[in-house]
Order: sequence, then C-alpha cells, then structure tokens
Amino acid sequence: MFIIGAGPAGLCAALRLQQLGYRVVLIERSAAWPRPQIGEALTPGVKNIIDFLDANQALEKVPHLTRLPTRLSWRSRTAETVVHADAAVVDRSALDAALLQLAIARGVEVHQPASLDSVAGSAGDWRLVFSTPGAVHQVHARMILDAHGRQSSQPRQLLCAPRLSAMWAEIAESDIPSELAHVTQVEALEQGWLWGTRLPDRRYRIMLLSDPVTSRQLSSSRPESWLRHNCSASSLFASVAQQPLCSPLQMCVATPYVAIDSWQDGRLKLGDAAFALDPISSSGVEKAMRFSLQAAIAIHTLLQAGNAAQRTLAHDFYRQRLIETHARHHFWTAAYYKQAWCSQQPFWQERSTPKIAAVPGNHEASLMIEALQREIEQLANYREPVIQAGLDMQTSQMIRFHHLVQIVSLPCVTGDKVELLPAMRHPHLERPLAFWENEAILPRLGILSQKTTLSSMLDILGQSMPLQKARRLLTWLWQRGLVEIVSD
Ligand SMILES: Cc1cc2nc3c(=O)[nH]c(=O)nc-3n(C[C@H](O)[C@H](O)[C@H](O)COP(=O)(O)OP(=O)(O)OC[C@H]3O[C@@H](n4cnc5c(N)ncnc54)[C@H](O)[C@@H]3O)c2cc1C
Repeated sequence: MFIIGAGPAGLCAALRLQQLGYRVVLIERSAAWPRPQIGEALTPGVKNIIDFLDANQALEKVPHLTRLPTRLSWRSRTAETVVHADAAVVDRSALDAALLQLAIARGVEVHQPASLDSVAGSAGDWRLVFSTPGAVHQVHARMILDAHGRQSSQPRQLLCAPRLSAMWAEIAESDIPSELAHVTQVEALEQGWLWGTRLPDRRYRIMLLSDPVTSRQLSSSRPESWLRHNCSASSLFASVAQQPLCSPLQMCVATPYVAIDSWQDGRLKLGDAAFALDPISSSGVEKAMRFSLQAAIAIHTLLQAGNAAQRTLAHDFYRQRLIETHARHHFWTAAYYKQAWCSQQPFWQERSTPKIAAVPGNHEASLMIEALQREIEQLANYREPVIQAGLDMQTSQMIRFHHLVQIVSLPCVTGDKVELLPAMRHPHLERPLAFWENEAILPRLGILSQKTTLSSMLDILGQSMPLQKARRLLTWLWQRGLVEIVSD
C-alpha cells in the first residue's frame, strides 16, 4: 500500500491496513514537523476511533482541553450555553505527530519530507518514484491511497454549497478578556459566522467564515479589517474586536465538495481529498478518520476477492459510505443554516437550500449527483418515531412488518470484510437497519414479511439469541412502528 499524506485520514488508513497485515509505505511532504494544521475542535466520535485503533496510550500526551462549554448565538441573538461532553479541543499538530509516531512504531514505513515524482503501471502493480532529501526511492504497490488533504477547486470536484472562505488569527493569553477564557463561542452574523475558542497552548483563536466575494468587496485590501468589522458587529466577540493579534492572519477556502474520481482502478482518495465538509460541524477529522477505516475494509475485501461480485461489492461499499457521509452532512448543514436568526439574509438563504453544482457533460458527476440527491431525499423522508408503549407479549397475537418496511440489500462490514446483507428501510429509521445490538437480524426477521404469531417469531429468534433479547428486539421494533399487530 502506498499512502500520500500524514493527516488523520492517511494515518488512520495506514494503521488499519497495517493491522490487517499489509505492508504500508507512507510519504508526507511537510519538512517542518509537527506542522500546523487547522481542525482542532474534535467531535466525541474521534474518541471511539482512537479506542478502536488502540491508540490511547500513544495519544495521552497530546495537549487538549475538554468540557469547554459552548456559548452559542445562533437561533437568536441571545446566547445559550451548551456542553458537549467528550468533545475536545486538541493541538492538531501534536495529534498528527503522535499518530505518525504510532504508525512508525507499528511498522509503517514513513518517508518525510518526501514528494512523489512519478507513477507508472496500473492497479495491482503500481511503480512509484519519490524523493526525499538527497535520495530517490522506487516502490511497487498494489494500491495508491491519496490522503493529501483539501485541494483548492479542481475540475473533478462537485461543489456542494456556495463558496465559503475562512480567515482566522490568534490572540495572546494576556489579551483574552476573562469572559472568553474558558468557553468556545459560535455566533451567526448577517454575512457569515464567527467561531472562537481557547487553544491548548492558551492562545484564543477567532475564525470568520463568510462568502469570499462579499469579503473581497467589503474589505478589498485588508482582510483583517473584515474580521475585526464582524467581531465588532457581533455580541459575543465584540470584546476582542480591537485586541492585538499574536499571529499572522491566515485564510483558506472552506467550500464543501466531493471528488468525482475518488475511486479509480487501484487508486482511492481518503479524507479531505475525497470530500470536504462545511467547518460548521467541526467533524472533518472524525469523518476523515471514519471514512479511512471504512475504505481500509473496502480495500481488504477487494484484495481478497475471489470473484467480480466481491470486487463490485467492495467498490459499492466505499461509494455508499462516501455518498452517505456527504449527503448526511449536506442535509444537516442546510437545516442548521436554516435555523439561524438571520436566515432571511442572502448568505443564509443560499446555504439553507444549497444546490450541488452540475458538471455539464460529465457522466460520472451526473451519477454522483443523482446518488447524493437520492440519499438526501431519503433523509428528508425520515420521521422521528413517537415511541409507543411496550408490546403486549400475548403469544397468540399476529404480527408483521409495518406496510412501509422495505427489505433492501446493503453492503455491510462483518469482521474485516464487506458482505451483502438484508436490511430494513422505513421512514422511522434514519438509515437502513441490518444490525441490532451487533447482530445481523434480518435473515431471522424475514418471516415478518407475512403475518405470523408472536410465539413463532420468538421461537425463530430464540434459536440464535436468548429469549429475553428476542423479546426486547420485538418490543424495540414495535415501539418504533416497524411491526404492526394484525387481526387474525
Ligand atoms: C477553516 C476550517 C476549519 C476546520 N475546523 C475543523 C474543526 O474544528 N474540527 C474538525 O474536525 N475539522 C475541521 N476542519 C476539517 C479538517 O481540517 C479536515 O477535515 C482534516 O484535517 C482532514 O484530514 P486529512 O487527513 O484528510 O487531511 P489533512 O489534515 O489536510 O492532511 C493531509 C496531509 O497530507 C500532506 N500532503 C499534502 N499533499 C501532499 C503530497 N503531495 N505528498 C505528500 N504529502 C502531502 C499534508 O502536508 C498533510 O500533512 C476544518 C477545515 C477548515 C477548512
């Protein structure tokens, strides 16, 4: 395996593929290491991934802050305070450096600083040439994994929302007003939104997300004045509007996109190279890591496949995870933008009903847009169930699936491979359900496509799970309206 990029996506894939028994070579271009990187606010799911990779010990010295309350001025101009347990603000450069050290310790061959010079060959037999200071290296690889991070607008990207740009800078600890010292803050403004937090190194970061065109028009020569203007216009950041900055102002593109060519024969994209999310969710790192774990399973399935059907399954799994991750994010982000107090302003209107930009004449792009739209439609059809009282376990009672239940085939992970499993789809389920409490349930529940007695259903389930669990499962399905009682 040849991996390009030592961010969370590349390192997570390296660790997982190494664990699955592959030889992994990884190149990282940065000469300065640890290198600064944006994306310090981590969602709670990162912790589960770190547990899964058995990386807790390796990461225990990474400077981080936990349980910072968030002061949020979003739905109204009056701030509310929320606490996201298990969310953290980390030193990203230290996190990436610790993951890289762990990868090396586990046997991943890392070259840094290194740059890829040429790629020849084809899937299964790539010949790569790369350079490190004073040396040129050649390797053979079965797969190439591009985890080189966000690429600014490329023709093979589908832009999934209006253009967005980020600018940020830091304030020294001594200049942080006391009311900001121990909170993260997020505030919706008419022409963008502000985010601020204390960093583990005690500085305070302020970040403004806005439309690049507006920002250019309104602050043509001095971007810093645009940041200060927005802080002054805010209620939560007004006290830092005129504070001195202790770091140069930085800017980057932050428009969400998905790469059309994420899966090429023998060459896959991971993390931000495959899809980039709107920073409002602060979940880019988690999604990048999770997608790498899923991609590693797709790769393992592909390389162990004995026939074309298994190879197709590996590809379908990767593609579905890509589409699902992006569509969910797209749907969630639009709904969140819609909730802002200033949602009638053009900046917010455009983002609360975003369109995926078409790429005329590109068949692959059209297929991807269709798949994203199908997934978004399904999310829009989701109706949160009103939980009903428990099922009366009268064993002679006749039950069956609710008439809106559909049984579909879904590529799922079982062990270290992808398998096609039956799953249940229903408007009360956010996503198709194949597993319940870690067990594949549909083969056994299949009988509910026709009416059957509760006692026969319990007998069938009881052959592979304790009766107590079988009762709980039926109650769970009943409470969500997924099974219904039928009169005899
Ligand atoms: C403004 C902004 C704010 C954000 N805030 C958050 C946040 O608060 N929380 C969050 O979870 N996410 C956030 N994100 C998203 C987060 O930064 C990314 O999703 C995450 O870093 C993706 O990880 P990655 O491994 O795909 O890419 P990266 O972290 O970008 O890593 C890519 C690596 O590849 C290396 N590389 C690049 N090109 C080459 C090459 N040719 N050869 C070799 N190496 C190469 C780079 O040096 C780098 O080390 C934010 C994004 C933006 C734009």
